[in-house]
Amino acid sequence: MTEFEKAYALTGMKDVLPPDGAQWEALEAIVRDWLAGYGYLNLRTPVLEQTRLFARGIGEVTDIVEKEMYSFVDPLNNERLTMRPEFTAGMVRAAIEHNILYERPRRVYAMGPVFRHEKPQRGRYRQFHQIDVEALGFAGPDVDAELIVMLARLWKRLGLSDIRLELNSLGQADERAAHRAALVSHLEQHMDVLDEEARRRMYANPLRVLDTKNPAMQAMANAAPRLFDFLGETSLTHYHGLCAMLDDAGIAYTFNPRLVRGLDYYNLTVFEWVTDRLGAQGTVCGGGRYDGLIELLGGKPAPAVGFAIGIERLLDLWSESGGSALATECQVYMVHQGEAARRAAHRLGEQLRDAGLRVVVHAGSTGFKSQFRRADASGAIAAVVLGEDELASGSATVKWLRQDAEASGAQQESIPFDRLSTDLKSRI
Ligand code: ATP
Ligand code: MG
Repeated sequence: MTEFEKAYALTGMKDVLPPDGAQWEALEAIVRDWLAGYGYLNLRTPVLEQTRLFARGIGEVTDIVEKEMYSFVDPLNNERLTMRPEFTAGMVRAAIEHNILYERPRRVYAMGPVFRHEKPQRGRYRQFHQIDVEALGFAGPDVDAELIVMLARLWKRLGLSDIRLELNSLGQADERAAHRAALVSHLEQHMDVLDEEARRRMYANPLRVLDTKNPAMQAMANAAPRLFDFLGETSLTHYHGLCAMLDDAGIAYTFNPRLVRGLDYYNLTVFEWVTDRLGAQGTVCGGGRYDGLIELLGGKPAPAVGFAIGIERLLDLWSESGGSALATECQVYMVHQGEAARRAAHRLGEQLRDAGLRVVVHAGSTGFKSQFRRADASGAIAAVVLGEDELASGSATVKWLRQDAEASGAQQESIPFDRLSTDLKSRI
């Protein structure tokens, strides 16, 4: 046999081990329930799409398309393909392709992995996961408010603290064009502080230059003409309509004229939910309106708005805020000795599961001592012990392993087989 050089997970791509996997599942269950409460239905799209979908939908002059996409040529047919770096483009493609948004607007969501070739650090990975929610065919601002109110409910449901909402409006194309001219001339006057990327983008995508994380450019960016000051009557009405609905719902927000978001397709409403508790990567959720995207991708014009939550950052913040109860392998651990007891353990184990209990029947080593060590490590509340004596008397020995269990005082007791499942069920 030739020696195998051990394989490792790829840089920036993480394994989720137990019990963390249980936290993921707990979050996913809460999220599904939360979305169902607002009428959002699941729409699943493939991880792989044609590269041109993202180049067009996200915009050529963006971080994602310029340098973060995992793209390759399919060797079987020479097609250029990309692992999705975000959900919106694929969701919109699917909605157009299957004609689902013209008879009535649609509320849809997806959850799953996305891929970006970034420098890995806390809260920034190369495979990460998003909860993506899209309201397709709605002009707002009522549905913009709905999305934000919904998010506030999720944060409350998870018991998150220290998460705040930042809000801006990017207006419409003509307003951005007027602002753009003023912005480009501002950038031209500050060529000396622009980094290489900014110089490259300043004509193709000047707004994105303001999204910079370069500290040397912050003063220049802060002094730049604000897009918000170029908004006309209609855009302002939309923005103030949204603000009034948030006020009604008792949701606090900060107006942030610097907020432009990383993608090209946004207009009017843009928002981010930010926390200071996660270090540098503090944006947990970003969203906004993208009324031009459906037409840009070949559909009949229709307005739309949506957001994406970064699941890793949300889980991180959730555990910072207390998190959910730690997951255990089971509630009952069955310990047994001898062949007859082993068979009884499996039979009784099935009865306990019928009653809705989570049960592990010991497998492997035979000594009582090592079985009890496993029972403890499993996090079980009770160990059910079956040996010769128990089989002879028709009663199991039940050992309560946790002090907080309703053990009615006794640490150990004997319970007849025919009462075991009702008895344990009522006390666990
Ligand atoms: P950033 O400015 O942090 O790069 P972004 O604008 O690129 O964020 P979006 O495209 O809006 O992020 O993605 C939505 C959410 O997905 C972000 O708010 C964040 O929570 C999460 N996210 C983005 N990139 C990563 C990543 N590389 N690893 C983990 N989570 C991420
Ligand atoms: Mg990014």
